Amino acid sequence: MTFTPHGKHLIAGDWVSGPGTFTSSPAHGAAHDFAVGSPALVDDACRAAEACAVAYAATTRTERAAFLNAIADEIEARAAAITQIGTEETGLPEARLNGERGRTTGQLRQFAAHILAGDYLDRRFDAALPDREPAPRPELRMMQRPIGPVAVFGASNFPLAFSTAGGDTAAALAAGCPVVVKGHSAHPGTGEIVAEAVHAARIACNMPAGVFSLIQGGDRSVGEAVVTHPAIKAVGFTGSLGGGRALFNLCAARPEPIPFFGELGSVNPMFLLPEAMAARGAQIAAGWAASLTMGAGQFCTNPGIAVVIAGPDAETFATAATAALQPVAPQTMLTDGIAAAYRQGSERIAGTSGVQALVATPCDQRRAAPYLFRTTGAEWLANHALGEEVFGPLGLIVTVTDADEMLALAAHLEGQLTCTLHLDAGDTAHGRRLLPVLERKAGRVLANGFPTGVEVADSMVHGGPYPASTNFGATSVGTLSIRRFLRPVCYQNLPEALLPDDLREQA
Ligand code: NAP
Repeated sequence: MTFTPHGKHLIAGDWVSGPGTFTSSPAHGAAHDFAVGSPALVDDACRAAEACAVAYAATTRTERAAFLNAIADEIEARAAAITQIGTEETGLPEARLNGERGRTTGQLRQFAAHILAGDYLDRRFDAALPDREPAPRPELRMMQRPIGPVAVFGASNFPLAFSTAGGDTAAALAAGCPVVVKGHSAHPGTGEIVAEAVHAARIACNMPAGVFSLIQGGDRSVGEAVVTHPAIKAVGFTGSLGGGRALFNLCAARPEPIPFFGELGSVNPMFLLPEAMAARGAQIAAGWAASLTMGAGQFCTNPGIAVVIAGPDAETFATAATAALQPVAPQTMLTDGIAAAYRQGSERIAGTSGVQALVATPCDQRRAAPYLFRTTGAEWLANHALGEEVFGPLGLIVTVTDADEMLALAAHLEGQLTCTLHLDAGDTAHGRRLLPVLERKAGRVLANGFPTGVEVADSMVHGGPYPASTNFGATSVGTLSIRRFLRPVCYQNLPEALLPDDLREQA
């Protein structure tokens, strides 16, 4: 059966219309009308979230785990409809939507198991020392507590896993925080059906109505109203540097500034060390081309830059990368705006002095074909803009003169989500010089692979110094991401009867 969205917001358990409508712009299939959000609706959602914050924080871990698992079940129950509307709105292939749905439900279930295990509470206990000299020590207990209502902004390129019931929402609900989602205007119907799943799970699990709201966008004032609402205590954002920075600034300028966990863009450089280049340069080039063009290059971890040392192996690499990228057919991008930004970015790189185009297939409308450019280390170091993300399948080979210039380039990098080393055993000394530099630049350093494909795991770090993210101490993927929505509270000499249950268990 075909899913047709009704186009309403979900505000604290009620489906409501807005002051007007906007029309979706799907890659294929029918367009639909959606209610535009407004500051008044934001206020309703945020007040309802605050009204239930204490009650939701007091739910047991078992109750919240059941809620998260129920959301996953309800999403699976709507699998066909989610894939239908998701593919229509984003142009992403069916297999990708199905895979992303599995990742989304997997994340929800992983957080359920994570909170049941209890380690995330980081419980600490310092016994009282009444006879200590010169002063007695009080009894101290510490535990992580939920911070209150969290606002979530999803990204266009992950309509499920980084969106309505994606990683940020799962982490916040697991922590014990109500969530207000600002829907992405590129996939409002996908947002709606996922919100239906959360709504059904909430009712089945008898959770308070204010624990989850979805406000469709259609107007930039909606996002601004959400991040500046006094009830909101933190923001999880996945999206562009420009959008993230604007909302980050609003959070910082609030009378009560709040943390803004912005996961933004990155060029994810790869460093190809000499022995690996000599042994398998052409093979690495083919793997790079596949990673660069996967999903029309619309991944924040897309490896946009390959740094190689000048010489015959660098030529082999460039020839192989050109041969692999040249035949790649144009792919549909997520939105007209993203396609236009990709063309502008490609033109900007093409117009930079010292840059040579190796692959440049012009394309129009919402489509993107790969671009491959080449420049020298000296030109790259002199042109800051060559290190900025172009969202799409664009690669830049930077040829450095020697290992020292490669190190200088690494030191010059801005913050990254990932940095990659391609190395063989004989490259170890070289790698040992680069690693201390790269680990200051990136949230994840990987060897002999490609950074697209972010494992949802306990050890994953998906973040990095600015501009990769606005909070380099955090990750937005994996169980550690729950820490963004928790705050340590110390309980000094509190009578047993007042302690939270999770601390009493520890005594
Ligand atoms: P986007 O255009 O920044 O949109 C993200 C959200 O922010 C949308 O809800 C958007 O509202 C809102 N927004 C943007 N600018 C705003 C402003 N000035 N005021 C109020 N609201 C604003 O990003 P996108 O195009 O969806 O995503 C692509 C980008 O995300 C790429 O740069 C990619 O690298 C990055 N990304 C990063 C990660 C990561 O984990 N680091 C993951 C995926 C993607 P509207 O709905 O009204 O547009």
